[in-house]
Amino acid sequence: MKTNMFVKTHWKVLKHDFLYKFFRLRLDLVVFIIMKQVVPHNKRKFNQIFVVKREKADWRKAFKREWKELLSRVLNNDLYLTDINNWFCGCPSFLTSHFLICKHLIQQKGIVDTLFFDMVYRHHQYPFINTTSSQIIDFERSNSHNLQTALIFEVAEDENLQVCKKIYERLISTTEKVLDILKDQQDKGNFKWVKSVEKNFQPIEKMLTEITVYKRRRTMVRTFKDSSHNTLFFN
Ligand SMILES: [Zn+2]
Repeated sequence: MKTNMFVKTHWKVLKHDFLYKFFRLRLDLVVFIIMKQVVPHNKRKFNQIFVVKREKADWRKAFKREWKELLSRVLNNDLYLTDINNWFCGCPSFLTSHFLICKHLIQQKGIVDTLFFDMVYRHHQYPFINTTSSQIIDFERSNSHNLQTALIFEVAEDENLQVCKKIYERLISTTEKVLDILKDQQDKGNFKWVKSVEKNFQPIEKMLTEITVYKRRRTMVRTFKDSSHNTLFFN
């Protein structure tokens, strides 16, 4: 596909049909216009062409003109592999053709009625051109599949939230119980016990120091490099 052309047309339509009143407009206004005008306009056009079928796609006229022109060309004794079922041809003009058509394919296809030009579909896979819209149906199917995937992700996120709540509850309860034990042993003046368990608190003390330093530097620009596992997701 010649994607550059599509992107260029998209910008041209946006600039000339929707943004022509403004000069150097702010980005939030551009986003607003895209959401409130451009997207509804394209949705309406899509519906008119593919659902209601009241309008014809812009390319059909040019396609018909090019087809008719190629029909009048003289065939030389070329030995190209031409396959009208999969719609490809080995000749160089097929490869560079905007609509993937060439005189060999068209003349092998033979006479078509005017209805053909309203029924023909262009595809990204073999057959590149035919009169079935199966690939459009495939596209719709893959879209509903994406929706299902999104739902699965939502469920997974919900489960993650439950797991996260449980972890917090467990850690808070443990910390509170440990705090009670510490205070009780302090009251009893148990210095032997506190010396033997002191090392258990090293990772927690380290985490506290890192978070304190991190909070103090909050206003400065930071990178991922500056973060440890204690501060990477700290909020
Ligand atoms: Zn050809």
